[in-house]
Amino acid sequence: MTNSLWTEQGATLSLKNACQEYGLTERDILDAMKAGKLQFRENYAHGNPYFKLLRGEVEALALALRGAAAMEEQAFTSQLRQIDKEINSYKRKLTSLQKQRLALIETRNRQNRLAENKTEESSAPRPQEIYPSSYLCVCGHESDFSENTIKEAKAKSQKRKIHLSDSASDEHTIVFHKGEMIDILCPLRERL
Ligand SMILES: [Zn+2]
Repeated sequence: MTNSLWTEQGATLSLKNACQEYGLTERDILDAMKAGKLQFRENYAHGNPYFKLLRGEVEALALALRGAAAMEEQAFTSQLRQIDKEINSYKRKLTSLQKQRLALIETRNRQNRLAENKTEESSAPRPQEIYPSSYLCVCGHESDFSENTIKEAKAKSQKRKIHLSDSASDEHTIVFHKGEMIDILCPLRERL
C-alpha cells in the first residue's frame, strides 16, 4: 500500500515543495523525519540528492503544527499561485504566436517588395479598426478603448498626430491623424 504511493502521480513531493506548499520550515520536516513521523526516500536530480516525502503525511504534519485555518490559507494562496503560473504560461505562448504571425507577414511583405508586385502587397494584413473603439494589430493583439476616448482622440487628431496607448502589458500605441487611425505601433515588431 505505502509502497505504491511512492510511484503514484502527485502522491509525493520534494522537501523544498513541502515547505512551499504547506508553509513548513525545513527544520519542521527534518525533525519529523528524525522522529519517524515522516517517511522519506532519497532521490537524485542532476546529481544532487533531495528528499522525497509522502504528501498525505506532510499534510498531516502541517495540520498538527499549524492548525486548520493556516492550512486553508495556505491552500488558497497555493491555488492562486498555480493559476497565475498557468496564466503566465498562456501569455508567453500568446506572445510567441503573435511574433510568429508578425514574422510570417513581414517575410511575405519583403518578398512582395522584392518582386515589386504591388497588387499582392495591397492584400497584406494591415492594422484594423473594429468599430467603434477597438483596434486590431497585425500581430493579433486587440486594443480596446471607450468610445469617448476614441472620439476625443480622433477630434484632436484633426490638427496633429495623436498617440494613444492601451494599458496592456504588451502595450500597443494607436496613431491617429486627420480623424483616422493611420498606424498601430507594435512592441513585438521592434523585438523581431
Ligand atoms: Zn502587435
